[in-house]
Amino acid sequence: MITIRRALEIVLANVRPMKTIGVLLDQALGRRLAGDILADRDLPPTDRSAMDGYAVRAKDLRRCPRELRLVGEVAAGSPKRPKVAPGTCVTILTGASIPPGSDAVVKVEETEERDGLVNFLATTKVGSNIRVRGEEVKKHEVVLPKGTVLNAAQIGLCASVGKATVRVYGRPGVAVLCTGRELHQPGARVGPHHLRDSNGPALQAALKNAGIDEIAHQIVPDDPKTLTAKLKAAVARYELVVLTGGVSVGKYDFVPEAVRRIGARVRFHKVAMKPGMPQLYATLSGNRHIFGLPGNPLSVLTGFYELVVPAIRRMSGLSPASCSLALRLPLAREVRCKKANRTTFVLGKLTWSRNGACVSPLKSHGSADLVAGAQADGVLAVPRNVGEISAGELVEFTPWRPIP
Ligand code: AMP
Ligand code: MG
Repeated sequence: MITIRRALEIVLANVRPMKTIGVLLDQALGRRLAGDILADRDLPPTDRSAMDGYAVRAKDLRRCPRELRLVGEVAAGSPKRPKVAPGTCVTILTGASIPPGSDAVVKVEETEERDGLVNFLATTKVGSNIRVRGEEVKKHEVVLPKGTVLNAAQIGLCASVGKATVRVYGRPGVAVLCTGRELHQPGARVGPHHLRDSNGPALQAALKNAGIDEIAHQIVPDDPKTLTAKLKAAVARYELVVLTGGVSVGKYDFVPEAVRRIGARVRFHKVAMKPGMPQLYATLSGNRHIFGLPGNPLSVLTGFYELVVPAIRRMSGLSPASCSLALRLPLAREVRCKKANRTTFVLGKLTWSRNGACVSPLKSHGSADLVAGAQADGVLAVPRNVGEISAGELVEFTPWRPIP
């Protein structure tokens, strides 16, 4: 049996970033840049007006009110360059280039226009309401470094610097195989001895949160032949296969056998954690990986967020150091659990006080208690051989929601 920390090290030592691909901007959200994005020109590319108003020479408005002759107009997108000579002004719209001769823009609200003359009510200063060429960024400068996980503002910035496509890391396709002859679809008629497959839908959702869009899900009976065939087909098509159930030492636990039969190399099978000690991780050539998570819903989610999500993050191009989701946060209330030779993961809820976010431990009736799990924002780790942590102490909290 290995520690959770060691298990994470083993996973991160084996998974590699996927090949990079070019994607259109509408496919880029949440993806990780595989190279720097550079400005293709200064931003803004010319001196521009920040307001609707009049381009003037500030000198002309030393004393106000003062009338200037209106000699032209520049709208946003117009290539016109009407000259602003002494005693004249030009109508200018937000975003339009400042015409030659002028050095300030006066807001339309501070003027009155009549019969080709504009009356200026207040004085102005050189540079007023002008966005200077290159003030945001200069041509060839890096606007987004390699590794950035693209959000809405950053995708907008890519467009601003002329990128119709961006080079990003690929993300693994994932097959979810839920084993168990007791399992039925949520819409099926069930008897009291049946169980609904909650792991499948939960993992599909968690995978989407982790940025995966290619997901296949199947329920597989506890039969070694069928399981081996399904697993073989899954690894042929998907870089990552996540199994639930059937991974322990029970009479109908055939996952370890099926994993070996298809020629995968088991890297670990037991992790000193609770819930979910029998966590299996195996590798195949070609950056293909198999996780066998125990069947109970909270064991599945704990194993998924502690081990599978870091693997996905590494495959999606993140540096090993930033693959784990764990945050260090103070405890809102003391937590007590049985002292154990395993890291215990306790359900936790995030709460906010004047001092910022902290974690409140939640009660649960064990690893099958998805009702308690549904109240949680994640889990906090109680280290091995620790039975109690006091309020205010820092704990490692793994959120069950996406973070960049
Ligand atoms: P196992 O690891 O196969 O022995 O499963 C442990 C427990 O988890 C059993 O009570 C299973 O019925 C339950 N379980 C297994 N798979 C699922 C699933 N997909 N959804 C909900 N519960 C499950
Ligand atoms: Mg089972």
